[in-house]
Formats: sequence, C-alpha cells, structure tokens
Amino acid sequence: MIRLSEIRFDEHAERAVVEVLRSGQLAQGPTVERFEEALRARLDVAHVAAVSSGTAALVLALEAAGVGPGHEVVTSPFTFAATVNAILHVGATVRFADIDPEDFTVNVEAVDAAINERTAAVLPVDLYGQPADIPALAALAARRGIRLIEDAAQAFGAEAHGTPAGTADVGCFSFYATKPLTTGEGGAVATADGDLDGRVRLLRSQGSRVRYRYEAIGHNMRMTELAAAVGRCELDRFDELTGRRQVNAALLTAGLESVPGIQTPLIRAGRTHVFHQYTVRVTEDSRLSRDALREQLAAEGIETGVHYPRAATEEACYGEHSRVICERMPHAETAARQVLSLPVHPWLTDGDIERIVAAISALEPA
Ligand SMILES: *Cc1c(COP(=O)(O)O)cnc(C)c1O
Repeated sequence: MIRLSEIRFDEHAERAVVEVLRSGQLAQGPTVERFEEALRARLDVAHVAAVSSGTAALVLALEAAGVGPGHEVVTSPFTFAATVNAILHVGATVRFADIDPEDFTVNVEAVDAAINERTAAVLPVDLYGQPADIPALAALAARRGIRLIEDAAQAFGAEAHGTPAGTADVGCFSFYATKPLTTGEGGAVATADGDLDGRVRLLRSQGSRVRYRYEAIGHNMRMTELAAAVGRCELDRFDELTGRRQVNAALLTAGLESVPGIQTPLIRAGRTHVFHQYTVRVTEDSRLSRDALREQLAAEGIETGVHYPRAATEEACYGEHSRVICERMPHAETAARQVLSLPVHPWLTDGDIERIVAAISALEPA
C-alpha cells in the first residue's frame, strides 16, 4: 500500500522527547521558547507564538487583531473547515471570495469586490502548500485599511516573491500530524506587530500574564513541551524533507502532465510550493471520473485524498449559518468535484512514484 501520508521520526526526536519527560516539565516552558526562537529565525520575522493547533492560531490571531461581532472576514470557500470555523468562533461574519481556478487560492479581484465598510480582515489560504498572491493581497489590505491574516497552515517554508508564507502581516501555521512540519498537534502565530503578538500570548494562556491575575477573557491554547521538543527536531530536517516532497512532485508532474484529463499542479512565477498535498484536477477529458479513478487506484494499493469534496458554501452548517454570507462559488464548487491528491510524502521511493504514474497513465487512453 502506498499511503497518502507517512510520518517517521528520527532518533533525535526520540531523545528530545525522553529528555522532556525526565525534566518533569510537560506544560509550556523553556522548550516552547526555544522552538519559538527557531521558528522566528527560520521565518525571519520579529515574533512567533507557539500554540496548541492551527485552529487555535487562527482564533487567537483574529481575536488579537480585534476581529469579532459586527465584522466581516473575507476568505476562501475552498479550504479546510478550521478556516471558516475560526472566523465564526470569534463572532465575526464570513464572506467568501471565489478561488483562482489555476492555483486554487483566493482570487485577488474577487477579494477586492467582497470588501466593504464592515470588513476587518482578509484571510487567504495557502492551499496545498503554495502561497496565495500574498504581495497583491497585502497591498490591497493596506489600501483598504484592513488586516491580512494568512492561513499558512499548509505552507510553512513556502515563499511568495521572496517573502516567507505567513510573514506579510499575521500568519497562522499548523503543525498537525500530517503537515510538512509536525509536532503531532500544534500551531503558531507569526507577526512583525509586537502588540498583536503580546495579545496572542495573553489570550493563549487564560488572559493571564501574572499567575491568577486576569486582563482578558482567554483560552488554554498553549503548546506542550513534548510537542515543542518534536518540533525543534523536525525543523532541523525540514528543508531536507521538503526538498524530497518537491522532487517527488516534479517526478509526478513529468510523468502525468501529458495524460489526457489530468491537470498537474501549477507553480506560479515568483512562488514556491512545499507540496503539503500534490493535487491534480481530473477534468471532463478524463475517461474515468475523479471518484472512479480514486477507486481504481485504491484497488491497486494507492491511497489518494480529496481536499476538499465540497466548497464551504455547499455544507449546510455553513450555508445556513446566519453569519455566513452564502453566494455561489462556481470555481470552488468545480474544483471540489475534480481535485485528487496523490501521495507525495518524503518516504516515497522512485518505484512508488513510477507505480503511481503507471497506474494513472494506464487508466487513461493516450
Ligand atoms: C490543518 C489546517 C488548519 C488547522 O490546523 P489544525 O492544527 O488541524 O488545527 C487550518 N487551515 C488549513 C488550511 C489547514 O490545512
């Protein structure tokens, strides 16, 4: 079986976890601080606060930016549920802007058209590991006087025109088990804004800076020492593992780009792609539907994924929500019917990649 995702840790991570256990301190402490310092250096940004998950990062970033009831946040309808949930959890209203069909990230003109006097932030999603058009969105947000809160959960280490994903204004990362940089569960908020970073730190720990004194209504969204120990080790080999994802992606594209009905991922000029997912489109020209192809590949021992099977606007819990402005999102809805994620993880062998390419090519008449 070729798995869609495979996670292997090395002996450094094993040792680091044992060290934390022996220290007796498991809750947020010096290891979290060292992980934050390493992330700051890696991202070349003034502040990074480690938190308990990517979802927590989004909630804290929105709250710390003062986004709440009465505000609208413009985001992508083609994303993981956490993006939309975070906006709703802080009490704000979700307004969608459709995606660019070529790279699956939010379309800048659509964002511009969706902004009004209630808009407090634009929240683009760096889908599959390629940043949205962050320079254009940052310029737009600055012009309209709103915040740019980047869902870079899938794009740690990617860049747009030399700027690391998540560092334009406020960036949210996830270190969930299958993400390219993992701590099991975890996340981080990156920003150059020291005041915002201070509020994230306050809110992640019950609104308390001094023990048992409270300045705000906060959460428990802290990262554990165990998670941070894993993260520090994973960060050390992140470039090597990401390089392997990128090589695997290039091999898949070379093998699949001439297969009729398969549209391989586009890497935009000026952007880098860390390939959290390698996602093709199965178009109308394909002999098999996306779902039939998926079943055939499963029968041949190749696991695939659909990220995501519906646009957010198509889910009743969002579509019928009083704080979701629900309009048709044709590009997102079409993408949801066509996308298929193939294995691209660092532990694939060349033989695995040949098997994936051969299986898909054989199913399509040349
Ligand atoms: C993974 C992910 C999140 C949430 O991260 P968790 O760590 O699972 O809470 C948010 N947005 C996107 C786009 C993601 O892929």
